[in-house]
Amino acid sequence: MHEYDIVIVGAGPGGSTAAKEAAEKGLKTVFFERGRKPGEKNSSGSGLGPRLWREFDFMRDLTPEVCPSMRAGAAARNYFVDSDGEVSGYIMTKPTDSVTYEPARSWITMNCYRSEFDPWLAGLAVDAGAELRTSTLVTGLLKEDGKIVGVIDERGEKYKGFVIGADGVVSMVARQSGLRHRWEQRQVTIVPQYDFECSPSKIDDIMGDEALAVWWSATFPAAYQAFFNDGFHIGLGNWMTWWDKNPVHYLNKVVNLKYFQRLVRVLDAKPREFQAHLLPWQGSPHDTHTDNVILIGDAGGFPCPLEAEGMYPAMVTARAAVETAAEALAEGDTSKESLSIYDEKWMATSVGEDFKAGPELEHIWRALPFSPRKTMSWFVPMFTEITGGIMDWSEAHPVRVRQVARRIKQYLPQAVPFIMKEVLPLLNAILGEEKMDLLTNPERLLTELPELEEAITNAFMDDDEEEGTE
Ligand SMILES: Cc1cc2nc3c(=O)[nH]c(=O)nc-3n(C[C@H](O)[C@H](O)[C@H](O)COP(=O)(O)OP(=O)(O)OC[C@H]3O[C@@H](n4cnc5c(N)ncnc54)[C@H](O)[C@@H]3O)c2cc1C
Repeated sequence: MHEYDIVIVGAGPGGSTAAKEAAEKGLKTVFFERGRKPGEKNSSGSGLGPRLWREFDFMRDLTPEVCPSMRAGAAARNYFVDSDGEVSGYIMTKPTDSVTYEPARSWITMNCYRSEFDPWLAGLAVDAGAELRTSTLVTGLLKEDGKIVGVIDERGEKYKGFVIGADGVVSMVARQSGLRHRWEQRQVTIVPQYDFECSPSKIDDIMGDEALAVWWSATFPAAYQAFFNDGFHIGLGNWMTWWDKNPVHYLNKVVNLKYFQRLVRVLDAKPREFQAHLLPWQGSPHDTHTDNVILIGDAGGFPCPLEAEGMYPAMVTARAAVETAAEALAEGDTSKESLSIYDEKWMATSVGEDFKAGPELEHIWRALPFSPRKTMSWFVPMFTEITGGIMDWSEAHPVRVRQVARRIKQYLPQAVPFIMKEVLPLLNAILGEEKMDLLTNPERLLTELPELEEAITNAFMDDDEEEGTE
């Protein structure tokens, strides 16, 4: 029997962060990885958001020397694909002036391969004093008098200590502790993706500072593209309840788009790898802990409810779990009741802030980009009509504006119920009922914002009147 304060199953971003934080607190810590090295069994690459740098000082040490696949980008492109499989428009976005975190004004994502990032992070945990056991599959939870007191590996070795389940989406710890039998189909997505190889100089020349693309489509669920130093991913996913065909059928629809094929040609990109992974995606995590056990990251269902960013939540919940475990161990009480402070801790973080509007964020994603036939089939032409219709000189501009307005009117029978059912509840969850009332009650809006009334009056004043007031 090996004795530790903390035993962590999994050396992904969650497990390694937990191991580092626990070791830094002076807790005797071991963490296990079934792969030969951390990062071997995960989706091959990921985008890391600025919140990670904001929250974790050690992220500043992530450099191209330790992670050669790193590529930062400030721009994201959104392609709109219509029902005929044509790219009918795109917009490129960059951080705007409302961004308050200064570094996030110059980049939106740092993309890197997990085969480099995960070992780097695990190395920091080892440097802090945690013990890493690779090529070790943890197969069970160790019990004494019916209580969970540690874990058992595939060789029958026993490790006693407080258990942190950081073992990803198909979490053995969640199942064997009774916290979850299995995910319901509407709580978990499957994400197939291709990894393409291409030269760093081609990516720089052709993509510039673009690091991400989202392909919004009427024929497949939204697909994402992430550019790394020497390649890119194209992938898509949806909840298990959605698929009527093999997910690869839909992924191939993206890859076979004429536009995408052109991109592949100009980038001289070559397919390198195919992968398919599961990812939990839900509006509100629950059943996160029981006696002597806490679940973090994917094991606890923490990816962002809007777009399933999962590494930041894994690392943030890791920190909250270690703080909780350290306090509980110091008190000598690791019962489920005493660990309930874990939920308070992660709810108080930026991850918790996202989950306050979790169900609404998840609903809108489900109803819009993940509903290609039902919603995107009218959304894409409506959006491209609005953004592209006016940029046309085939008629006098006022004529074109009237034509565009008439066409948009045709989409209102679909757009209005969508706004009522999906957009207003989301705004309500984010802004609160008080502010919503302000938005949906024009009279109150004008009373509370006299400047607005003045602006509206000025806007509708004719030119003579305006001159007369000067
Ligand atoms: C295709 C795809 C693309 C994604 N892109 C992004 C992205 O761009 N940005 C982002 O933030 N998130 C992204 N995510 C989500 C992100 O990958 C996860 O949310 C994140 O990895 C969760 O971290 P974790 O530490 O909780 O679990 P994991 O990263 O899954 O780590 C769990 C680790 O535990 C090990 N393990 C599991 N069971 C055992 C066991 N019994 N014994 C020993 N070891 C075990 C596994 O081998 C693994 O290394 C993506 C996910 C997918 C599927």
